[in-house]
Amino acid sequence: MRQKLIAGNWKMNGLTEPGLSLAEELAQRMHRAVELNDPEPPNCDLLLCPPFTLLAPVWSALAGSGISLGGQDCHTEISGAHTGDISAMMLKDAGCTHVILGHSERRQDHGETDAGVKAKAQAAVEAGLVPIVCVGESEGERDSGSALSVIAGQVAGSLPSLVTGEEAVLAYEPIWAIGTGKTATPEDVAEVHGAIRALIAERDGEAAASNLRILYGGSVKPENAEALMATADVDGALVGGASLKADDFWAIAASCP
Ligand code: PEP
Repeated sequence: MRQKLIAGNWKMNGLTEPGLSLAEELAQRMHRAVELNDPEPPNCDLLLCPPFTLLAPVWSALAGSGISLGGQDCHTEISGAHTGDISAMMLKDAGCTHVILGHSERRQDHGETDAGVKAKAQAAVEAGLVPIVCVGESEGERDSGSALSVIAGQVAGSLPSLVTGEEAVLAYEPIWAIGTGKTATPEDVAEVHGAIRALIAERDGEAAASNLRILYGGSVKPENAEALMATADVDGALVGGASLKADDFWAIAASCP
């Protein structure tokens, strides 16, 4: 049984306030849940991925809460002449356990390719981080019936071949569902997640495939979280907009069966 992971992607949102208050509020809820069972602790792992500028204060706010910290991107090199970039080792040094890679916004805004994402994921694993590798089709690709082949190509191209199921997380994020309020149906999500797991099983063996967590992302909110988290092969969620509100993020976490 895979423990679900609910990851908050704050994207380019959050100054010290309200970012710090949000992290503190979630940390306090975790403390109350674990110590007083009020409310009950969520049945999942929790992860916050704030912008780089908030890693240090959010790390302090989360100390001892059990909520993990992640980055939103990293470079392929450990260090060097790469102005403006952050390495996986730097994220690790800042307290991160995870890093989101290949998000469709980075693929679109920065021309990131599958090969580039793969190199970053490899660097992340070498630095001791768990990469959350994002894949997902555009609306046109879904409408033309090519969603599964596009996703298969992204998985093959973006996930390092030697990475095992425990070393990486995949996130299926249909581009047309990100930040739009549209959500894939549980049936569509189950089909894609099942296909991704079958692909990983082919290359990585049954054991790794059974450990691999596949998150769904795309307008996950309290109203649709219960159905999505109960869907076959969904091992959690990558949450954008709703991760910026403590009540919503907590409600999504609490929906994990
Ligand atoms: C995301 O950015 O990964 C995401 C899924 O965003 P939203 O939840 O806002 O659609």
